Amino acid sequence: MGLAQVHIVGAGLAGQVCALMLARTGYQPVLWGRAEAAPARAIALAQPTVDALMALGVAVPCGGQIDHIHVSRHGAAGHTRLSARALGHAQFGRVVTNDELGDALRVATAGFTQHQAAVEAIEVGRGIEVDGEFHQGPVVLTAPVPTLLKHCGIQSVRRGLNDRLWVGVVEGELQGHAYERFTDTGPLAVLPLGPGRASVVWQCAGEVTPSRLRAVMGRRVALGRVIHQAEVPAAAIWAPSLTRPGVAIVGNASQLLHPVAGQGFNLIVRQLSLLASFGLDRLPEWAAAADAARQPWLATTLTLAQLFQPRWPGQGVALAGVGALPGVAAGFTQRFMEGR
Ligand SMILES: Cc1cc2nc3c(=O)[nH]c(=O)nc-3n(C[C@H](O)[C@H](O)[C@H](O)COP(=O)(O)OP(=O)(O)OC[C@H]3O[C@@H](n4cnc5c(N)ncnc54)[C@H](O)[C@@H]3O)c2cc1C
Repeated sequence: MGLAQVHIVGAGLAGQVCALMLARTGYQPVLWGRAEAAPARAIALAQPTVDALMALGVAVPCGGQIDHIHVSRHGAAGHTRLSARALGHAQFGRVVTNDELGDALRVATAGFTQHQAAVEAIEVGRGIEVDGEFHQGPVVLTAPVPTLLKHCGIQSVRRGLNDRLWVGVVEGELQGHAYERFTDTGPLAVLPLGPGRASVVWQCAGEVTPSRLRAVMGRRVALGRVIHQAEVPAAAIWAPSLTRPGVAIVGNASQLLHPVAGQGFNLIVRQLSLLASFGLDRLPEWAAAADAARQPWLATTLTLAQLFQPRWPGQGVALAGVGALPGVAAGFTQRFMEGR
C-alpha cells in the first residue's frame, strides 16, 4: 500500500519542517509554493528547537550562540542579566539567518515532491486547487494567506501594534551576549549571529544607522555597518481555530507573533512535532494540544510587547528583580526555552 499523501501549503521554514516531520511518521509530503528570500531576517532558535531540527537530519547552521541575555530599559537604572550556565544550561540557544536555515532545510527536503505553484483554494475535507486542477488529500496550511483561511471558514484575529519593525543584519561582535532593550519607540533586540555579525530587530520609525544604534545600545556593544535591512509591520495575528476536517492550520497561518519574545518559529516547531505525533487522523485532539501549547506564548508576547512600550516608573527596579530572584529568572528561562 502506498504512503498517505499530504499537501503542505507554503514551502517556507514551517512548510519544510512540516514535510520532514510528517515524512518521519509515514506520510508522503507534497510541498506547494516557493520559499522567499529574507536576507535581513534572523531567528533565535531555543535549544529544544535546535535539537528537534538536528534529529530530523537538518544541519542547523552554527550562527551565534546565546550564552547571556541582558534586558534593560534605555536611560533607566536597573537591568536583568541571565547566564545560561548559572541557570543550568549549556546555552540558551542560537541565532541563525532565515535564509541560512532555509538552505539547510532545502538540503534535507531535497527528495520530496515539491511544486512552486501557489495554491488557489482549499476545499475542506477534500484537498486543494492549483492552476484550476484539484488535488485530493489532507492539507496542512502554513502560508498566512487570509483567503485560504477564509476557504476553511476561519477569520483571523488581528491586534495591530501601531508601528513597524526595522530588521537588519549588521556588523558586530557580541560574543554570546543577546540584548533586549526597551526604548521610547518600542523594544530593540540585538542578537549574536556568529563571527562579525549581529541581528537587530527594533520597533521604531525612521532611518536606522550605526550611530543611532550606538546611541541606544551604548559604546560597550560594538555595532558597525548595516549589511542587510528590511521593514515588517508590527502586529499580532492568530487564527482562533486550528483545524477543519482534513485541514491543519500551522505556522504563520495559525499565529504571527510580535518578535519581542523571539518565539514564533520555536512555537511552530512545537506545534509540528505535536502534529506528527497525533497524525492527520486525530486532528481535533492535535488542535486542542496545539492551541494549549500556544496560549502561554500568545500571552507572553502580547504582555511584553505592550508592557514595555511606554516608560513607567520602576521599570528598571522590576528588571533588576527578575535577575535577582532565582525563581523568576528560572521561570523566564523556561518560558524562553520551552514556552512553558
Ligand atoms: C522580525 C521577526 C523576527 C523574528 N524572530 C524570531 C525569533 O527570534 N525566534 C523565533 O522562533 N521566531 C521568530 N520570528 C518568527 C519566524 O520568523 C517565523 O515563525 C518564520 O519565519 C515562519 O516561517 P515560514 O517561512 O514558514 O513563514 P512565511 O514566511 O510566512 O512563509 C510562508 C510561505 O508560504 C508561501 N505562500 C504564500 N502564499 C502561498 C500560496 N497561496 N500557496 C503556496 N505557498 C504560498 C510564501 O511564499 C512563503 O514561502 C520572527 C519574525 C519576525 C517578523
